[in-house]
Amino acid sequence: MNLTNVTAFVNGEVKRYDLRQLYHIHRTYEVKRQRIQKLAKKPKTSKKLLEKYSKRERNRAKDFMHKLTAQIVRELKDNNCGAIFEDLKGIKDNVLNGSKEMNRKLSKWSARTFQFMLEYKLKWLGLDVRFVDPKNSSKTCPLCSGCMVAYEGRLMKCENCTLVIDRDVVAVLNLRVWGAGFPPKALDEPEREELSRNENSKYLHIPT
Ligand SMILES: [Zn+2]
Repeated sequence: MNLTNVTAFVNGEVKRYDLRQLYHIHRTYEVKRQRIQKLAKKPKTSKKLLEKYSKRERNRAKDFMHKLTAQIVRELKDNNCGAIFEDLKGIKDNVLNGSKEMNRKLSKWSARTFQFMLEYKLKWLGLDVRFVDPKNSSKTCPLCSGCMVAYEGRLMKCENCTLVIDRDVVAVLNLRVWGAGFPPKALDEPEREELSRNENSKYLHIPT
C-alpha cells in the first residue's frame, strides 16, 4: 500500500485498487486545518474547530476504506482465497514510501486501518490471514532472488537476471511466495538438507 494505490496479487493476476480519493480526503482537511491555524484569534474556538474537522476527516477516510475493503473481500471470497499481508509492526517508514512527514504518518495510519479492516472481514468469513515480514520484499528479485536496485520511476531492476518490474509488483509477488512458506533467499546446501528433513514444511518444495 502506498499513498495512491493498493497493489495485490489475486488468482495469478496483479490488481491495483485506487486510493486517490482517500488521499484527496486527507489533503482537503490538511488545507482546512492550515487555514484555521492561520486565522485563529480565539484559541478555544480554533481548537474546537480542529477537533471537529479531524473527526470528520477520520470518518470520511474510514467510510472510504470500509467500502473498498468490502469490495476486495467479496473478490477474495468469490475466489475462495485468504490473504497474505505485509507485517506492519515495527515497519520502517521508507517501506510506505511517503516523501513528507505528513504523508508518512498518513500512509502509516491508513495502511494499518486498512489492513485491520481487511483482516477482520476475512476472518469473519473464515478465510485464512497470514502476515509476512516485508523486509527486502521490493528489493529481492521474484525470479532469481537476486538484488534489485532502483531503476526509472517506480521500476526496479535485478542486478543478476536484469528483470525490470514495478516495485509494488515485486513486493506482492514476493509476499505471495514467502507467505506460502518459501524462504526469502535462495538456500545454501546445509539449509536445503535441513529443510528436506523437516516433514512439517508442507508448503516447501525444494528444487533439486
Ligand atoms: Zn533476477
